[in-house]
Amino acid sequence: MLPSDVKERLIAIVGANYYLDSPNELYAYSYDATPIYQALPDAVLMPGTTQEVAEVLKLANEHGIPIVTRGSGTNLAGGTIPIHGGIVLNMNRFNEIYEIDTANLTATIGAGVVTADLHKAVEAVGLFYPPDPGSMRISTVGGNLAQCAGGMRGLKYGVTKDYVMGLEYVLPSGEILRCGGKNVKDVAGYDMTRLLVGSEGTLAVITEITVKLVPLPETKRTLVAYFTNLTDAARTVEQVIAAKIIPATVEFLDQGTMKVVDDYAKLGLPLDMKSMLLIEQDARRIDGRPRHRADRRHCLEGGRRRRARSADGGGGREAALGAPSGVIGAVAAAADDDSRGCDGAALAAGGDGRGDRADRREI
Ligand SMILES: Cc1cc2nc3c(=O)[nH]c(=O)nc-3n(C[C@H](O)[C@H](O)[C@H](O)COP(=O)(O)OP(=O)(O)OC[C@H]3O[C@@H](n4cnc5c(N)ncnc54)[C@H](O)[C@@H]3O)c2cc1C
Repeated sequence: MLPSDVKERLIAIVGANYYLDSPNELYAYSYDATPIYQALPDAVLMPGTTQEVAEVLKLANEHGIPIVTRGSGTNLAGGTIPIHGGIVLNMNRFNEIYEIDTANLTATIGAGVVTADLHKAVEAVGLFYPPDPGSMRISTVGGNLAQCAGGMRGLKYGVTKDYVMGLEYVLPSGEILRCGGKNVKDVAGYDMTRLLVGSEGTLAVITEITVKLVPLPETKRTLVAYFTNLTDAARTVEQVIAAKIIPATVEFLDQGTMKVVDDYAKLGLPLDMKSMLLIEQDARRIDGRPRHRADRRHCLEGGRRRRARSADGGGGREAALGAPSGVIGAVAAAADDDSRGCDGAALAAGGDGRGDRADRREI
């Protein structure tokens, strides 16, 4: 329990509604997504401004009270469990998108913005924030940043550190600082931005984040390929990348996983196959045509007995949102959309479709 005078001063800083210390509330903040570990904090604070964060940190520093900063608590590393008691600093009120700068391709947001909310907001204006941890519908961008989260789009687009351009942060002393910004060539001095990315809440409390955005891909296509062994699936991924095609996402499912997915979603997957690949491509249109470059030929080359088919849009887009639901969504779309997907793949390959139909008969 915190000394009563400290409690009073903390309430004066954040307001009584944002100071929690009932047994139920403390219990709710005693664990995160990490299995096994648990410890009770002495209090949970929900500051609403950077100034409040600074005053809380300064006071805690004076009294030697531990601070654990928390986004949505989805980390799997025990990063928000208050093992020494003290204060859990919940950053969920920093949930505002301050600016989407379409001229500079940046967004400036509070650290407590939920990742999927940022996706939605920037996509509404034709822009794209690629980092996509599987927890993105719950996790905060501040938590993503502190853990340098990355998801299935990492191969093509990179991870959180590749998108963070500038920060506002508060040191344990209560000092409020800024680093980086919108300028790409902001290179003088120590790179504090890079230092803070991945620092897991140990160096500072991040309050505001400026991220880089890229143009939103205009088309999506999902290719599903089945293999009679595991090696051919791995070789196919190598071949696709060696052909200088970087898919937006690649998911590999072995036979055991295919069975689990099929039991759950009743897709009619070919369970005699030993593995499958789910390859999602995205692209911008050039002269009105999508520029997807990987097609069934890359999956059918060099293997003994394989199947491959593709589906446009819908389910493929779901696939990028997270496994296993993404897997199920995309497989369902491709399975439902077999015949339309055949012509789609021919278009994507720049062919007339005959080759794709021949591939299907061969199965
Ligand atoms: C179902 C599921 C799927 C997942 N998928 C992925 C995945 O695909 N890729 C991946 O990388 N991770 C994944 N994770 C792990 C986790 O979701 C991520 O690490 C995510 O970035 C954590 O965000 P959060 O808001 O929940 O942060 P929290 O768990 O609350 O905090 C994480 C760390 O960041 C610190 N922190 C939080 N906010 C701040 C701040 N404002 N300032 C300073 N430090 C702060 C905390 O102290 C803690 O050390 C997954 C977790 C789950 C449960």
